[in-house]
Amino acid sequence: MKVGICDPIAQEGVEYLKKEGFEVIDLTGVPKDELPKHVGDLDAIIIRSATKVRKEFIDAAKNLKVIGRAGVGLDNVDVEYAKSKGIKVLNTPGATSISVAELVIGLILAVMRKIAYADREMRHGKWPKKKCKGIEMYGKTLGIIGIGRIGREVAKRARAFGMKIIYYDVFKLDDRTANELGVEYRDLDDLIGEADVITLHVPLLPETKHMINAERIAKMKDGAIVINAARGGVVDEDALYEALKSGKLYGAALDVYEHEPLKESKLFELDNIVLTPHIGAQAKEGQTRAGIEIAQKVAEALKS
Ligand code: NAD
Repeated sequence: MKVGICDPIAQEGVEYLKKEGFEVIDLTGVPKDELPKHVGDLDAIIIRSATKVRKEFIDAAKNLKVIGRAGVGLDNVDVEYAKSKGIKVLNTPGATSISVAELVIGLILAVMRKIAYADREMRHGKWPKKKCKGIEMYGKTLGIIGIGRIGREVAKRARAFGMKIIYYDVFKLDDRTANELGVEYRDLDDLIGEADVITLHVPLLPETKHMINAERIAKMKDGAIVINAARGGVVDEDALYEALKSGKLYGAALDVYEHEPLKESKLFELDNIVLTPHIGAQAKEGQTRAGIEIAQKVAEALKS
């Protein structure tokens, strides 16, 4: 059976498929708009976020039984249409949670200690020591919105920095898990008003679209910090811009955007925001775990 690799995955995953007897077709060099021409006889494809698997693609892949996404988000796959054609859609939701959580801690530190700003200024020949007086994580309250896989990994790490951790989620944790993580439940409005740092770890759904908007930002503490490494659209970027510009918020960091790739934005004018290009899952170990796990899942699905 033939498995097409549309986006690069860890070599260990490719080797696993070969060892299991699959013919692996490397399609990573094919321009994305030409991919449908190459998928007619494939039994499975493996993708990351770059390949869009929409109706035209699925119709062209007449033999397709499995779509494997190395990673979490399935926004780039027309899942319902694939399922209606009997195609299984698999992903690796937990493989990169630690990678994302570590980035979030990095973003919090980068905002609080103005690391990215200091670096930028020094490269322009400046020595902005006075402007770089920051704040500590220690003793601050972290509000985690969405305490799923990534939210929990963030909680564990933030605890080591001496933060008090509160969370909001549609599902309340059982007491034992909450105690182990050292987190306390708050309803959303209470969390918004109490947290010094708010980090989002919810999926983008109609209910979570612009969950952080002008109205909620107004209810935050003066000098609060907002971090979004979940999905663009959960934070209203215009409202965030205004709050950063006015000084209502101390700072913010975004790894995800309403429109990606973000090439132009008024956010670029601001010194108190740290921007990264959707790199939460871009860590070697996370990608290796995702590559191996998706290869195993695709192989298992094809064999069954
Ligand atoms: P998860 O499913 O494990 O956790 C999501 C949590 O959000 C769940 O506990 C769920 O109950 C909660 N939730 C859902 N709707 C909610 C609502 N309306 N209000 C409050 N809570 C709600 O997901 P995860 O693996 O932890 O991923 C979290 C987010 O991170 C997702 O948006 C995912 O796409 C994103 N992500 C980003 C990157 C990156 O590169 N930046 C990488 C991986 C995942």
